[in-house]
Amino acid sequence: LGGLWFAILIVLDANYLSLPEILFTGAGWIIERRLLVEVALVVGWGIFAVETLWLTGKAYCQTQQVVVRKHITLWTFGLILTLGGPILLPVGDKILGEGLNWLGALVITYTVLTPRLPDLRAALRQALSSLTTAILALAIYTLGFIGIQYLFGDVLGFIPLIVGLVLSLVLLLLFNPLLRVIRRLVNRLVFGEGQDSNRILREYSQSISNILDIELLATVAVGLVSEVLGVERGALFLVYSELDDQGEKCFRLKGVKGMGQETPQIGVLPVDSSIVKTFGKDRQPLTRLEIDILPQYRYITGKERNWLLHQDMDIFVPIHAKDEWVGLLALGPNSSGTSYRDEDLELLGTLADQTAVALQNARLVESLVRVNNEFRRAYTAMEEALTKLKRLDRTKSDFISIASHELRTPLTVLTGYSQMLLDDPIFTENTYYKKVIVGINDGTSRLHEIIDSMFEIAKIDTRALELQSNAVDMPALLKQVCQSFAKAFEARRHSLVFDMMSDLPAVQGDPEALKKVFHHIIVNAIKYTPDGGEILVSGYYLPKGNVEFPQGGVKILVSDTGIGIDPRFKELIFVKFYQTGELALHSSGKTKFKGGGPGLGLAIVRGIVQAHGGRVWVESPGYDEETNPGSHFHVILPLHSEST
Ligand code: ADP
Repeated sequence: LGGLWFAILIVLDANYLSLPEILFTGAGWIIERRLLVEVALVVGWGIFAVETLWLTGKAYCQTQQVVVRKHITLWTFGLILTLGGPILLPVGDKILGEGLNWLGALVITYTVLTPRLPDLRAALRQALSSLTTAILALAIYTLGFIGIQYLFGDVLGFIPLIVGLVLSLVLLLLFNPLLRVIRRLVNRLVFGEGQDSNRILREYSQSISNILDIELLATVAVGLVSEVLGVERGALFLVYSELDDQGEKCFRLKGVKGMGQETPQIGVLPVDSSIVKTFGKDRQPLTRLEIDILPQYRYITGKERNWLLHQDMDIFVPIHAKDEWVGLLALGPNSSGTSYRDEDLELLGTLADQTAVALQNARLVESLVRVNNEFRRAYTAMEEALTKLKRLDRTKSDFISIASHELRTPLTVLTGYSQMLLDDPIFTENTYYKKVIVGINDGTSRLHEIIDSMFEIAKIDTRALELQSNAVDMPALLKQVCQSFAKAFEARRHSLVFDMMSDLPAVQGDPEALKKVFHHIIVNAIKYTPDGGEILVSGYYLPKGNVEFPQGGVKILVSDTGIGIDPRFKELIFVKFYQTGELALHSSGKTKFKGGGPGLGLAIVRGIVQAHGGRVWVESPGYDEETNPGSHFHVILPLHSEST
């Protein structure tokens, strides 16, 4: 419409329609073409002025933000000057009219380009204080001058220059303290403010420094700041550097319930956002108006803008602890309806610094509490899992115990009958029958051994192992065990080296149980050593004074030249049912190379040795079937066993 109006003006003024200069005469009226131009000019300008003022008024009523209202007020002032200027033009005052026009344009441009307008109140306060002080100084000077002249004029002989100089000197010294007092008085009496920022800061830091609960800290901090600045709403946000849903780095702003606010929604600001730059890097506070109008915030994401607008706050002040952005203080409008002044912003910055330390402490405590809770949860879960495992293990032990018990009776019958058949010449004379019966007999005795092992482990698990306490001559016992393997040694072409220290003292223990220990260790040495290997059984005396065995002990070492054991499995092999070999080979033969068993042998060994108060462990350079590094099984039995 403005363009159309402008075009009409040009057409009429330049007379492109070739209208006559006199448009109408008659009835005492003369209407000139020029008049038409002027009417169009005034009417159009009038409509434009009314429309603009109406829109400005509407914008003013629509916003609640003090800062925006301040801008609109200044804008309206500029607008009135701009609109008023041309009104003066037709009247004839060209210089004044154009001057107003330019001034208006200047005011509008300034309003648009300055997001944070200077504080007129502060300037006024400054001017008022200085003016009052100057007047007071002048009054003191004049009164002093007249007083001195009146009192001492006759006595001393009055020299005005010296009196003036002395008075000036006194005033010079007095001026600054006087100005300070006047400023405080002006603040209090004229503007009704009595703020002492030092006192506020002191009180603030005292109030918040000992609060370790984040929510309480937020309420107290926001409450105090709001009270000092007369703010109606406020909230504190904790800032966490995290990854967003897309895995990008971002800042997550978690609101803590503040004052006059429900707990605010969580905000997510991408790291490269210009808002983050202002808060995080420049550490500058930001008003809502600045977010709305400054060009650098034009390209922030809709989500960011919506979140910020949704808070309905006037100002956001970042909180930094050292170099880290840890929080954001958001404050709503002043209850007095004035916008934030520069001093307010300065005070807010300092209060934010004070808050940082308390916030950092509270966050630390919060994360400690969280870790503690998680730890407790994990601990409870672990405890539950442990109870479950224990129950499972108990069930397994029960099963082994019952199964081995139940299997023993029919197996004994089976062994008895197969033995009877073996003794019967009718069958032994027939080579075929004999082979079958020997097979059955071998199988049942192997089965017997396995069930015995299961029975043994069940007893160890339930701590039902009953041990006798006899003096055991270890070399004799070991010899007996080795002799029982004479056939196997021969079959596998292993050589046995027996190296016992002379005068080895007898240990206190259960000979049958100890036989089982070395039975399993030696059977393993035979099994896991390739044919033609060497097995060394040696015995040493362990003197008194050992930390673990203060009464001394007997140490038996069984070494082989076999495939060795991977260091990772050194402990695991002592766990029941644990085998490192291939399952296919299991129970394939008692002393066959790598012929695995049920994985109970070493568990029984450890159970029995520990029941004797002893210790068993293995040493091996590693597992290698090419180089056969060998294994060394150490068993120490205490000389005065505590457990037997
Ligand atoms: P298994 O009945 O399988 O022999 P053990 O409890 O006696 O069960 O042994 C557990 C595992 O320890 C074996 O499967 C084997 O892998 C390993 N092991 C035991 N003794 C030796 C040894 N002398 N040399 C190499 N490996 C051994």
